[in-house]
Amino acid sequence: MSDDLFKKITSHAKEYGFVFPSSEIYDGLSAVYDYGPNGVLLKNNIRDYWWKAMVQLHENIVGIDAAIFMHPRVWKASGHTDAFNDPLIDNRDSKKRYRADQLVEDHVAKIQAKIDKEVKKARKRFGDDFDEEKFLNEHPRVQKYKAQITDIEMRLNQALAAQDLAALKQLIEDLQIADPVSGTRNWTDVKQFNLMFETQLGAVAGNAQSLYLRPETAQGIFVNFNNVLKTSRMKIPFGIAQTGKAFRNEIIARQFIFRMREFEQMEMQFFVRPGTEMQWYETWKEKRMQWHKSLRLGDAYYRFKDHEQLAHYANAATDIEFKFPFGFKELEGIHSRTDFDLSRHEEFSGKKLRYFDPETRETYVPYVIETSIGLDRMFLAVLSASYKEETLDDGSVRTVLKIPAILAPVKVAVLPLLRKDGLPEAARRIYENLRWDFMAQYDDKDAIGRRYRRQDAIGTPYAVTVDHQSLDDGTVTLRERDSMKQERIPAEEIGRVLREKLKLSSWLG
Ligand code: ATP
Repeated sequence: MSDDLFKKITSHAKEYGFVFPSSEIYDGLSAVYDYGPNGVLLKNNIRDYWWKAMVQLHENIVGIDAAIFMHPRVWKASGHTDAFNDPLIDNRDSKKRYRADQLVEDHVAKIQAKIDKEVKKARKRFGDDFDEEKFLNEHPRVQKYKAQITDIEMRLNQALAAQDLAALKQLIEDLQIADPVSGTRNWTDVKQFNLMFETQLGAVAGNAQSLYLRPETAQGIFVNFNNVLKTSRMKIPFGIAQTGKAFRNEIIARQFIFRMREFEQMEMQFFVRPGTEMQWYETWKEKRMQWHKSLRLGDAYYRFKDHEQLAHYANAATDIEFKFPFGFKELEGIHSRTDFDLSRHEEFSGKKLRYFDPETRETYVPYVIETSIGLDRMFLAVLSASYKEETLDDGSVRTVLKIPAILAPVKVAVLPLLRKDGLPEAARRIYENLRWDFMAQYDDKDAIGRRYRRQDAIGTPYAVTVDHQSLDDGTVTLRERDSMKQERIPAEEIGRVLREKLKLSSWLG
C-alpha cells in the first residue's frame, strides 16, 4: 500500500461520484466533504448494515435519534467543556499549526518504517528461510529502533495523561523534530485547544445562549436513559444505538475522509450490572470484530489495539484498527466507560439515572460498554480495500471496486447487448421490474465492454445482459463482477437469484 494508491482512490472517489470536496466551486472547505450519487448509496448501505446488525438482530437493543444541539450543561457533565482538548504547536517560520502528539507519532512512524525496511531487505536476502519473528526479536539494529519507539511512546503517553504541555514540548525538542514544511525547529510552546464548535441559540443580542455542536453522539443516549427505560420495556443488560452527525474542530485534518470536521458516528451504549462489565466488554469486542469480518474484505485488514493509557472514566478500552493505505489506524473504539457518564449526569442534572434490578433487588447506576465507529471512516475502509486494478488476459487493465455486494451502491445493471432489434425495450421491462426491490441501473450507451467497465468502476456486483436469444427463449446472462463469469438464466429468475445473494442472513448469519 502506498501514497500513490491512496491518491488513486481519492481521485476515483471523485471521478465516479462517491465523494466531492465541500463547496468545491469556492475551492472547497478544509476537511469537509460531500457525498455524491454513488457515495450516498454506499454510505446509506453501510449505516443500514450496522443498524440491522445492532438493532434489528438484537432483541435487547433499541435505537434513538437525538438532536445535534444539546443543553450546554451536558458538555460540562461529560467533561468536554474542560477537557476535550488537543495539544497544538506552531512553527514560527512556516506559520503552520500541528497537533503536538501527532508530530511525535509521525516521528515514531518514521522509525517504524526503518524497521519495515530492514525486514524487507532481510526477507529478500534469506528468501523462504526467513523467520520474521526471530529477526524482529534478535536483529541488533531493529532492537535499537524498537527500544526507541517504546521510550518515545512512554514519554508521550505520560505527558498526555498528565496534560503536561512542557513535557510534550521537551519531547519534540529532544527528538529534534523539524517542521516538514519549513524544515526548521523554531517551535512555539504547546497550547491546549478545545475541539468543540461553539454557536449561539436565539436572536436577541446579549441574551443569546452559547451552544456546542455535539462532538459525539453518545451523550444524546445517556441523557435519554430514563426515557428509553420507561418506554421500551428494556431490562438490563440492554443497549441504545444511534447514528448521526458529530463535529470536531480538528487542528489538522488530513487524509481525505479519515479525519473530518463534520462526520457521522454510529454508536451503541450497552448498560450492564456493575461487576459484569468486563465480560460484556469481551463480548462486544468479539461481536464487533465479527461484524467487520462478515464483509469478507480480508481478515488481515483488522487488528485490535488495546489502549495502554486509559481515559479517567474507562477501565478498559481497545481500538479495532484497519489497514488503510497509509497504515493501520483506528476505525472503531470499544470502551468500558464504568458508571462515569450516568453518574456525572445525575450530579449535574439533579435527576436520578438508576435501574432497579428485579433479580438482585438492588438499585444501581448501570455500567456502560460503548461501541463507537465513524461512518465516514468505515466508508474509506470499504473503498480502499475494494479498489483493485486488474490486468486481464488480453493485457488490458480494469479498475474495479470489489465492494461487498450487500453494501454496493447499485446492485444490478440491466444492459441490452445492442441498441436495436427490440433489445432496449426488453431490457427496460426487466429493469422496471427489478427496481422495486433493488437499486438498479439501465444503460444502453456505448459498447457492452465499456458498460461493464463502468459498472465495475462503481462496484455493481451483477449485470444482466439482454441479447437476441433473450427474445427467443426469455433467458438473459447474469455477469458476476469479481469473476466476470456469465451464466444464462431465465429472466424471471433474476429477482430470486439476487434476493438469495443479497439476503442479510448470507452476510450476518
Ligand atoms: P482519533 O484518535 O482518530 O482522533 P478518537 O479516538 O478521538 O479518534 P473517538 O472519540 O473514540 O475517536 O470516536 C469514535 C470513532 O469516531 C472513531 O473510531 C472514528 O471512527 C470516528 N471519528 C472520530 N473523529 C473523527 C473525525 N474527525 N473524522 C472522521 N471520523 C472520526
